[in-house]
Amino acid sequence: MKRTSVREILSGELLGKKVTVAGWIRTRRDSKGGFSFLELNDGSCLKNLQIIAQEQLSNYRSELLKLHPGASIVAEGSLLESPAAGQSFELKADSIRVLGFCEPLEYPLGKSRISFERLRELAHLRARTNTFGAVARLRNVLSDATHQFFQSRDFLYFHAPIITSSDCEGAGEMFQVTHLDLENLPRDPESGKIDYKQDFFGKATKLTVSGQLEAETYACALGNVYTFGPTFRAENSNTARHLAEFWMIEPEMAFADLGDIAALAEDYLRHLFQEALKRCPEDLKFFNDRIEKGLLDKLESLAEAKFTRLSYTEAIKLLEKNSDKFSFKPHWGIDLQSEHERYLAEQLFKGPVIVMDYPKEIKAFYMRLNDDNKTVAAMDVLLPQVGEIIGGSQREERLALLETRIIEAGMQPADYWWYCDLRRFGSVPHAGFGLGFERMVRFCSGMANIRDVIPFPRTPQSAEF
Ligand code: ATP
Ligand code: MN
Repeated sequence: MKRTSVREILSGELLGKKVTVAGWIRTRRDSKGGFSFLELNDGSCLKNLQIIAQEQLSNYRSELLKLHPGASIVAEGSLLESPAAGQSFELKADSIRVLGFCEPLEYPLGKSRISFERLRELAHLRARTNTFGAVARLRNVLSDATHQFFQSRDFLYFHAPIITSSDCEGAGEMFQVTHLDLENLPRDPESGKIDYKQDFFGKATKLTVSGQLEAETYACALGNVYTFGPTFRAENSNTARHLAEFWMIEPEMAFADLGDIAALAEDYLRHLFQEALKRCPEDLKFFNDRIEKGLLDKLESLAEAKFTRLSYTEAIKLLEKNSDKFSFKPHWGIDLQSEHERYLAEQLFKGPVIVMDYPKEIKAFYMRLNDDNKTVAAMDVLLPQVGEIIGGSQREERLALLETRIIEAGMQPADYWWYCDLRRFGSVPHAGFGLGFERMVRFCSGMANIRDVIPFPRTPQSAEF
């Protein structure tokens, strides 16, 4: 079928032409004059196309008067200028073929408004609503803009493995992957422990929490790379910003230091805001009107924003001066809490902030030790409203120091033999960061809950569909 999308039609160049459109009915209104108005949505844009069905159509009475919201049709006809307010074109149908009827009493997306909570239970249908259609299109644009940004800078798209035997964050929040019979686990006769040698991979394996360690191997051969793929965390956090399965973007640059990736993060974020504004004006206006007042102003100011950079030590000093404002009292050595991060971005600097050089005790083993021996070359990018959106670091490229940090973290350098090899054979300074894609989609749409910006959210006690 050669069909034209509603988006293309509304762009205006097809006036007077014959076109074929296909989609789902949103509403049907019957007029006394012997015709009906059908509002058709095909997901290509927020707006519907109005179709005029006249009673002369052979199936007008037998079929078209039985069309209800959710029914699918193919319509052919001419595009005319519309006399109605709020729309510029309408389709005068020469023929309308019904593909699938939709029973109004059974269809859950009737006319009445449905809460986002209820729609999560209808995740197989929610993409047909205005909000979830808009989220899907924004997500698509941010995803394309991500590839565009890194490709235009000659970064190589690296596919990180999903199944892994290394724990990047050392946080123990990993899902186990096993092929063993859980009802009948093989055990080592002496220790009584589970014998993973008999498991599929001959060892215990997990779903990845980050593609970073593997991405470093390619950066240390090919230069600049980035991952964009699913990651998994078995954290039992029932919050509006945590998912058990989420997508992460992790650029890794060779021959680069912390300042280089801070600059990269700034450019990347501004690029995402600019592309969202440029390519999703209609959907963003919808979010601005219906989901978050002031969203457009926020994105427009961030698209041009300068980022404030300061050290963790400076940030703590500023926070300590305002200690009375926090329930968690700030002092040197703590991990910044969400309330601290938001205070920095919203109240103190009124814009994005990059905090650098955190105490080594609160950061991962692979981050490069600074000359003060107390801090590591780590950074967090903080945005108003959300706090941390990006976490990154320069990686420890000196073998002896890396091994010490692995041991301090309670792990064995031997378990990271291949990671240490990168430092053994032609080590180079390199650095990278991770951005949680859903946190970005949430921020750009204003959606309150991260579960509503991914098609099928996986969260504790929930993996339907
Ligand atoms: P948080 O403190 O919010 O849990 P984190 O410190 O665990 O975040 P990192 O380990 O630095 O996060 O992960 C890199 C990025 O991945 C984060 O900046 C965030 O954008 C995103 N992220 C982390 N955990 C989740 C999650 N459970 N769901 C969605 N995105 C996440
Ligand atoms: Mn976390």
